[in-house]
Amino acid sequence: MSDGPTYGFDTLQIHAGARPDPATGARQTPIYQTTAYVFRDAEHAAALFNLQEVGYIYSRLTNPTVAVLQERIATLEGGVGAVCCSSGHAAQIMALFPLMAPGCNVVASTRLYGGTVTQFSQTIKRFGWEAKFVDTDDLAAVEAAIDENTRAVFCESIANPGGYITDLDAISAISDKAGVPLIVDNTSATPYLCSPIKHGATLVVHSTTKYLTGNGTVMGGCVVDSGKFDWAASDKFPSLSAPEPAYHGLKFAETFGPLAFTFHSIAIGLRDLGMTMNPQAAHYTLMGIETLSLRMERHVENARKVATWLENDDRVEYVTYAGLDSSPYKAREAQICPKGAGGLFTFAIRGGYDACVKLVDSLEIFSHVANLGDTRSLIIHSASTTHRQLSPEQQEAAGAGPNVVRVSIGIENAEDLIADLDQALSKATA
Ligand SMILES: *Cc1c(COP(=O)(O)O)cnc(C)c1O
Repeated sequence: MSDGPTYGFDTLQIHAGARPDPATGARQTPIYQTTAYVFRDAEHAAALFNLQEVGYIYSRLTNPTVAVLQERIATLEGGVGAVCCSSGHAAQIMALFPLMAPGCNVVASTRLYGGTVTQFSQTIKRFGWEAKFVDTDDLAAVEAAIDENTRAVFCESIANPGGYITDLDAISAISDKAGVPLIVDNTSATPYLCSPIKHGATLVVHSTTKYLTGNGTVMGGCVVDSGKFDWAASDKFPSLSAPEPAYHGLKFAETFGPLAFTFHSIAIGLRDLGMTMNPQAAHYTLMGIETLSLRMERHVENARKVATWLENDDRVEYVTYAGLDSSPYKAREAQICPKGAGGLFTFAIRGGYDACVKLVDSLEIFSHVANLGDTRSLIIHSASTTHRQLSPEQQEAAGAGPNVVRVSIGIENAEDLIADLDQALSKATA
């Protein structure tokens, strides 16, 4: 089908990027389980290697199954192109790679997935990159943190672990003024609940491992390009604006216009970093995306019910769900995520660290796992697991103190989830 702008989200999540297989007519997108593709002739091969013609060479760069997923996610996010990769963490490196150089920094929110805080505060230093962490609710601090070596601002739309909603309009106004791209991790919200590009994001990154695949089966990541950033407006982004020696001096921004970032990510990023998504993973994720809107509606409905019940329980100190009327982020739900604040939040219980550990061990339906965005309800005690590498100050700043657990509410019957929490809270706080 032609992906006209007139189609709704539910139609696009099933059809965008896909067409009956040209070889067989297969209605479902086949898994192209191949590493290489036969060239028509030597001239065709040369044109492909020179980027003069777009086509398939080798599956480290492009694969037809993965290409359908890329087009599907780009369409749902309202971007011009997307590149899939092996995990959400790979997507973050793939997003930063064309922008950064030794000595450059990314201004990042303090409220991020625990693994991202570690990746940014420790590992990227090995590349000579630096992350400057700021509270993205403090707009003056965000503005002040951006300096002449800043090459990106990074935040999550619905932020881990508390489910806080970031004011993307305000942050993108600041990054625009500074002439640097805004990268938004939209994993927890998904394109069904939030459209970061409409709120000014330059690039959107995903861990497709989570809600997009939806049932905890395969790892994957994606970087979506809005196509709106002018990489040649300054000399800050030479990978995209200056001649590329590996392609006879080709300038990506000049040659590919709004698709410069996407082409660079395939022709340089995947080619040389090799963080490729495999076609099996793309298949599972395509299956998942077909039901994304239905699942997200139920995730939101259940999260509202469970959070409301918890908030009214004496054994619970507080609940962070942004969809609650009592939440300071409630107004941002209407502004940024009008279809709901997602399925992820934290709550604090009386009894501290020990009670939290007892709670996770007493639950029967909720699984104690380091994951989110599954059809199943999940729980984790962040302070003893995902946020363990963080200092106590970083844990508090991230909303992952010792008395706090994070839940990812699944699509089971809400009444069953509430009953399970009720019995486990009794044991935990006895
Ligand atoms: C899981 C997650 C990541 C990392 O993704 P992986 O697929 O596990 O590498 C990044 N950001 C957020 C918000 C996540 O939930």
